[in-house]
This record gives sequence, structure tokens and C-alpha cells, in this order.
Amino acid sequence: MARTNSITEAPRHVGYQPSERKAFFTDTSICIGCKACEVACKEWNRNPQDGAYELSGMSYDNTGSLGADTWRHVAFIEQSEAQITRAREEGAKLVALGMPGIGVEDVKEATPKPESVTPADTPDFRWLMSSDVCKHCTNAGCLDVCPTGALFRTEHGTVVVQDDVCNGCGTCVAGCPFGVIERRSDGGVSKRDERSKRVGEDFTVGEVAPIKNIGVAQKCTMCFDRQAVGEGPACAKTCPTTSIKYGSYDEMLAAAKTRVAELHAQGMTEARLYGANSEDGVGGTGSIFLLLDAPEVYGLPPDPQVPTANLPAMAKRAAAAAAGLIGAVAGAFLIGGRS
Ligand code: SF4
Ligand code: SF4
Ligand code: SF4
Repeated sequence: MARTNSITEAPRHVGYQPSERKAFFTDTSICIGCKACEVACKEWNRNPQDGAYELSGMSYDNTGSLGADTWRHVAFIEQSEAQITRAREEGAKLVALGMPGIGVEDVKEATPKPESVTPADTPDFRWLMSSDVCKHCTNAGCLDVCPTGALFRTEHGTVVVQDDVCNGCGTCVAGCPFGVIERRSDGGVSKRDERSKRVGEDFTVGEVAPIKNIGVAQKCTMCFDRQAVGEGPACAKTCPTTSIKYGSYDEMLAAAKTRVAELHAQGMTEARLYGANSEDGVGGTGSIFLLLDAPEVYGLPPDPQVPTANLPAMAKRAAAAAAGLIGAVAGAFLIGGRS
């Protein structure tokens, strides 16, 4: 299992023995952009709709981004031939092919052509489609900074908000290096007892469901309620191409490494993994992605850092500064007393 934050997430802190860590592997190379995952997430979690069918004008992406009401978001990125070539050349530089100076064309020629090549892109145009979600970070900034304990690490190694404990302060929003978690808003402020009301929880078909948890921080739970009964997440179950895979962290990491090697062997040197490195700034993530271009192209930070990473060093410096201050004050009293 990848390392966890020893400050806030030692087993004695969470109070139970962790079971097997669960994770996603999202293979964007086989995503067809059907958005079934977005819809399944909304349906299962009874999340409100995003606007009233407004078009964003950004390709087929009318959701825009992850948010309090959108826990899965499928990005559509249109790329020209020049952008595809750049991604391929940039990717080739990142891949250790074992032969110095080898280029993309050499890789293609040296590799036996498979019967079918995925995905079926034309050479001069493609869509990058990617279903984004909470990263369920190994070192989760949202969890580290939450003052009420509403955010907690589950026995599956995921990060979940307890709706009835969250006081809506929004500290976690600033603590997430991916911009995932958000407070659910209705444009106003609600009293705490109103937030936890679940009026008409099981509503009648055709009726608009009441919006719950207004003012509360909201994000993907990796379907914690489904995991509790041995079911996989709704989004992964729904995905028709198996672009979203779900299983143990070790299995998902192994599947991601195998798939990226397969694509490289097919000459798709632009394929790269995101979140698979336990040495990155968040200790790796429980949502691993295979991308076909740089993370920035998908709106992902290239080098995410948990904001609490330097907390122990900062605490030591603060303690040293406080000790120095006390010493200086005591010295001033002593010197003042003698004169
Ligand atoms: S991606 Fe953000 S909201 Fe999700 S676990 Fe990491 S820090 Fe928390
Ligand atoms: S795991 Fe569940 S809550 Fe998370 S994005 Fe998928 S359907 Fe939504
Ligand atoms: S359901 Fe699967 S194929 Fe469809 S948009 Fe989501 S990840 Fe892509």
C-alpha cells in the first residue's frame, strides 16, 4: 500500500484496521465520451442538475468542471494534427525506450502492427475524452485541513465527507490541490438544521427532487454506500467501454502500467500515467488515469502538492521562533532588573 500521511492518518488516528485500498483506473484512450458515468453518478447520488440545458459552446462539454453537483465530469478536448504530433513527441521524451535517440517514427516501424488499433483516430483530428473525479489522494489536503473531522479516511483508503458533521466553513475547498471539493450552493445561506433535512428523499417519478445538503462540502465518495454492500461504484458499473475500472489499488496500478506499455508498443508514445507515482506531491492518488497528452491539457495540475506537506517543518520553525521570543523577553526582564 502506498504511504499515507503519518500526521493525520495513522491507524490509531482513524481508529480501525484498514482493509484493502480501493482505487479507480480511468483509461481515457477508450473513453467514447458518452457521459453515462456522469449520469449514473447523478442518479445514484441524487445530485442536482447543472443548469437548465444551457450549452457552454465548448465542444460537447456542457458541464464544464467537477463541482458540488457534478462528481464525475467528462472533458472533451478537440486536437488538431499539430497538437497530436506535439503530444506524441513530448510523450516520447518522457518514455524510457531503452534506445538513445529513437524517434516516434522509428518506434512505429519497429513495432509489429496489431490487427486493430485503438482508438480509431484520424491522423489530423481527435477528441480527447476523459472522465475526471475526486483523486482520493494518499495525502489528502481536504482531509488534513478540515477543522470538524467531517472529512475522513474510510477503511477502503478513500476520502469521504460526513454531510451531517460538515459546518460549511469551506476550508477543504482551499486544501484540495485539484479543485475538486466544493460547497453546494443555492445562492444563499442556510441554517445548519435546514442543510441536513432530506425532505422527500424518495421522490415520485416526474417530480423534481428536493436539493439536499445545501451549504455542505460535496464530492465523490467512491460510492461508499455501495462499497458497504460489496458493490462497485455506479460510474464504473455503467461505463460501456470499461474506461473506468475499479478494484484494489494494487490491481489498478498494475493494469495502468500494463496498458501504458501496450500503447507505447503500438507507437502511441503520448500515453502516460497520472497519479500512479507514490513519490509525487500527494503521495499518489486512488484515482489513476491514463492520459494521451500532458495533464494541463485535461485541466489537471502537472505537479499537485498537498498544502500540509511542510507542516512539520513549519511547526518546528514556529516552535524555535517562539522559544527565541520567550528567551528575548526573559533576557530583557533580567537586564532591565539589573539597571
Ligand atoms: S482530490 Fe481533493 S477532494 Fe479529492 S481527496 Fe484529494 S484533496 Fe480531497
Ligand atoms: S464513485 Fe460514485 S460518487 Fe464517485 S463519481 Fe462514481 S458514481 Fe459518483
Ligand atoms: S461512461 Fe465510460 S466511455 Fe462513457 S464517458 Fe464515461 S468514461 Fe467515457
